[in-house]
Amino acid sequence: MKHKNYDIVVIGAGPAGSVAARYAAEQGASVLMLERDREAGIPVRCAEGVSRNGIAPFIDINPKWIAATIDSACLHSPDGEQAYMYNNGTGYVLERRLFDTELCNLAITTGVEMLTKADAIGLEYSGEKITGVRFKHFGEIKIANCSIVIGADGVESRVGRWAGINTALALNDIDTCVQYTVSGIDFESDACHFYFGKKVSPGGYIWIFPKSGNTANIGIGISGDLAAEKGPKAYLDEFMKRTFPEAKVNYTVFGGVPTAWGLKEYIKDNIMLVGDAARQVNPITGGGIVQAMIAAGIAGQVAADSIKAGDQSKKFLLRYKKEWDSKLGKIQKTMYSMKERFMKMDDSKFNNLVRLCQSIPKEEFSLKKLFSVAMKGDPLLVAEIARAFVASKLK
Ligand SMILES: Cc1cc2nc3c(=O)[nH]c(=O)nc-3n(C[C@H](O)[C@H](O)[C@H](O)COP(=O)(O)OP(=O)(O)OC[C@H]3O[C@@H](n4cnc5c(N)ncnc54)[C@H](O)[C@@H]3O)c2cc1C
Repeated sequence: MKHKNYDIVVIGAGPAGSVAARYAAEQGASVLMLERDREAGIPVRCAEGVSRNGIAPFIDINPKWIAATIDSACLHSPDGEQAYMYNNGTGYVLERRLFDTELCNLAITTGVEMLTKADAIGLEYSGEKITGVRFKHFGEIKIANCSIVIGADGVESRVGRWAGINTALALNDIDTCVQYTVSGIDFESDACHFYFGKKVSPGGYIWIFPKSGNTANIGIGISGDLAAEKGPKAYLDEFMKRTFPEAKVNYTVFGGVPTAWGLKEYIKDNIMLVGDAARQVNPITGGGIVQAMIAAGIAGQVAADSIKAGDQSKKFLLRYKKEWDSKLGKIQKTMYSMKERFMKMDDSKFNNLVRLCQSIPKEEFSLKKLFSVAMKGDPLLVAEIARAFVASKLK
């Protein structure tokens, strides 16, 4: 059996893995990144929507991996009204396959060693201490010894479980999703559309994200605890029949999105989890790309610092949690409380919200403006959101 030594082994080459690996290597650490698929970014299980501000700190914006630039989000109420929220071209729909590859290239250029078709199958221990990763590479079992493992292996993460971390999600904390990439329909090339309502998508929403080449991602995510009787595919098929009977489905993806408040524990001696593996996802929107990159940037930096300090104890690595909490972790908890409130709202609240958005002229649209209009138009809705905010602070 072959053994090789590194400071850090990163498992998974999605946005979390490649950013963590790059940030650690930039600080001089020797880093191996393992990816079980034959290349990063495939299969794409994502609607591919991000904000420019979210990704810009991590990668130079390049049109080659941008499928569409987004000017507005259109909300569709359960009773059939619609309202546009404008963002002046600050949203993108990505070509994830190319975007993820580019993130890997940046990591490799910084000195990261990357292996594809390299499936991590377990952790190596000396007594209680994690000392490396066992992986299968073209049929051969290999071992990479290291001081720190970074688990960036996505929503179905096994790395956490191998280390004794409880990564289980309650059914109401995972959205089950189905998405069709379609062609042959008319859609706005610069607007994302969102459809709400208990009959349309219980505990979630249907999205239409435009892509280049006359294609669009049309998908649905519904709360796992509401999916037993009728699954997301049945809801999406009804929507397609109603709205786009002429659509041609190019391909279909299924996937889960964690919509939890986070994990109680995602750091132990010699190991950290990042991205979907650590449930670092916006619980309301289900967006996790930017969150994964932000968390990974911190984790990669802390891992390199711990190598320099010769200290890979949980106590040292908790610097990652401290910084994550101050950047986004606390906000995620607030969002989670809001999600719980939104889940309990009846359709009339969503109808109201859309009508309030309709009353704001395009050039005046901002969240501040929406808040002030809501205070006048539906103070109970604002109180609902405020209660969620306070509840999150008390958790
Ligand atoms: C239908 C759907 C739509 C979504 N839409 C959006 C959206 O529009 N915007 C947004 O921001 N987010 C969206 N998300 C969420 C987003 O895709 C994730 O949050 C994001 O990909 C997380 O990045 P990650 O690096 O943590 O995990 P991933 O991107 O899942 O990467 C994990 C990597 O680890 C690899 N891996 C797993 N196990 C092993 C192993 N044992 N050994 C080696 N490699 C392994 C996998 O092959 C994979 O490449 C969506 C998710 C779904 C399912």
